[in-house]
Amino acid sequence: MVTIKAAALETLVADIFSAAGCSDAEAGRVGRYLVAANLTGHDSHGVVRVPRYVQMKADGLIFADRKVDVVVDTPVLAVVDGKYGFGQTVAPQAVEIGIEKCRAMGLSAVALRNAGHIGRVGDWAEMAAEAGLVSVHFANAAGSVLVAPFGGVERRFSTAPYCVGIPRAGQAPLLLDFATSIVAEGKVLVASQGGKAIPTDALIGPDGKVSDDPRHLYGDYAPTGPRDGRKGKGAIRAFGDHKGSGLAFMCEMLGGALSGNGATKFDRKFANGMFSFYVDPKVVDPENFFPAEVARYTDFVKASKRVKEDQEILVPGEAEDRSRTRRLKDGVPLPDDTWASILAAARAAGVAETRIQAATA
Ligand code: NAD
Repeated sequence: MVTIKAAALETLVADIFSAAGCSDAEAGRVGRYLVAANLTGHDSHGVVRVPRYVQMKADGLIFADRKVDVVVDTPVLAVVDGKYGFGQTVAPQAVEIGIEKCRAMGLSAVALRNAGHIGRVGDWAEMAAEAGLVSVHFANAAGSVLVAPFGGVERRFSTAPYCVGIPRAGQAPLLLDFATSIVAEGKVLVASQGGKAIPTDALIGPDGKVSDDPRHLYGDYAPTGPRDGRKGKGAIRAFGDHKGSGLAFMCEMLGGALSGNGATKFDRKFANGMFSFYVDPKVVDPENFFPAEVARYTDFVKASKRVKEDQEILVPGEAEDRSRTRRLKDGVPLPDDTWASILAAARAAGVAETRIQAATA
């Protein structure tokens, strides 16, 4: 395990994407969002993705510096096409449109289709919360068929994330943000590289037996080699039995079918789709009841008698907020294999050795 300061890691990742052909603005943005995911504790959506993004760009699966096309535009609604741009570039453009329309109308919806990997969906709810807005996001990952439905052993869903953000004045937002699979694919990726293990029942084999062996997803792999989610014969399991499986289905319906991204299927290139709803609490609640009620209810929930005295009750977003504070101070821990794969990506992209050494100084 190595520990790298967030700022140094951001710079190295930005250098890699600049060298790979992104503008400096985009490269910096990709670095910021990937490291932000590590800071929140979601290593699955952090810098572990660097070699994969570089490869996707080299393979013509994603493109640098895209501006979204607005294909439907009404006062309250937009449908935008990300044209396979980096998710870290096209998702904030879509969110900005949702924020602008919501500020004007009190309510808005934006469907994003054909986006490169949009990373942690919580980033987009945080962006809305910074603008003072409540937001709800249903997303899918078309072409990434990884998850077995409740009662099934074959892959049918993507990890189809769901997210709700609630702004709070002077505090991090309440933020529910999760994959509808027991674990996000990136958590299997992290486990396959010697990082945090996944739950023992997170995966299912073709024989219907549950497992935590990443080979069910990737087939055989070398320690620093690529992981290809199409090569395994098993699946990740949907979380929460029929309820989680149903939520995954609806993320495919809204984030996939309704957005025009397409619900997940085999033989389609990877694209995130996201259907997002934005609400301005100031319009809904001119009497300003909401902020105090959010605070009262949060305290009420946290004050429940605990199962174990030393295990605090956390509200959505609290774990991420604490991790951010801790890792900003102490640095981002990375498994050796992950770090080796990032250094290899930097050298392959032609980043100067002095810049690479500076990240570890
Ligand atoms: P997770 O299982 O870690 O769950 C995270 C959620 O649970 C957060 O809202 C967090 O605040 C809350 N939480 C964590 N610990 C808690 C506790 N002790 N008590 C109460 N609440 C707690 O998340 P995940 O499913 O592994 O997803 C990780 C990330 O992956 C998310 O940011 C998600 O958006 C992202 N994702 C992205 C894609 C994509 O295609 N772009 C696909 C799947 C997942």
